[in-house]
Amino acid sequence: MQSPIFSAHGVTKVYRSGEVEVFALRGVDLDLYEGEIAVLLGPSGSGKSTLLNIMGGLDRATAGEVRFRGQDLTTFSERQFTRFRRDHIGFVFQFYNLIPSLTAWENVALVTEISSNPMKPDEALEMVGLKDRMAHFPAQLSGGEQQRVAIARAIAKRPEVMLCDEPTGALDSKTGILVLEALSRINEEMKTTMAIITHNAGIRQIAHRVFTFKDGRIADAAVNDQRARPAEVSW
Ligand code: ADP
Ligand code: MG
Repeated sequence: MQSPIFSAHGVTKVYRSGEVEVFALRGVDLDLYEGEIAVLLGPSGSGKSTLLNIMGGLDRATAGEVRFRGQDLTTFSERQFTRFRRDHIGFVFQFYNLIPSLTAWENVALVTEISSNPMKPDEALEMVGLKDRMAHFPAQLSGGEQQRVAIARAIAKRPEVMLCDEPTGALDSKTGILVLEALSRINEEMKTTMAIITHNAGIRQIAHRVFTFKDGRIADAAVNDQRARPAEVSW
């Protein structure tokens, strides 16, 4: 059986502020296989973002282990942690954080300049269907287009994994579907493994597996039978 690219075991996260403890995650197990799209569902406050942040090296688990290709992130120094995040992970968030004074092309180029094996900005923007918007500034683009620029920026360094935290959260349902379709195309063409948090119903068409969070735990894990699994994957 194929080994997972990401393997989280017993991941627990406790946030402390003064005397108050919040259990954001209470022992989560999640394997992510190469080439799959996993979607994380569940109510607000159920721990989805916390898990994604821990997998992406933005936050540390209180207990448990998180392995990326066998290496346990929880043992990483700050420096290894930063390098891991930079070299392997592409992030997409609800808000696009584009630089307003730079064009779409320049926003993507900013990242490709510091990567070891980058895509050309044109290629990354073409992948998300924005070939004819390259010279536009963020303010001249719709929300969905801005998010697709942010996705182009994230894929331009060819990350192995994309972690997307409510990439459709600021968009209406139809526009959100275009964003999810762009992610699906990247998954198919670049074989990028993805974990996506979204409430957009269109995700049913593109997710291979669906994990439902409740109170800091995964309450349900299901294979999406509307979608064939990637060829090499056996879970
Ligand atoms: P979701 O993404 O599913 O909405 P989160 O992972 O953001 O949920 O949050 C899980 C729980 O952890 C919530 O109770 C939230 O308030 C708490 N939490 C998240 N981040 C922090 C933080 N930085 N400090 C304190 N509590 C936090
Ligand atoms: Mg969240």
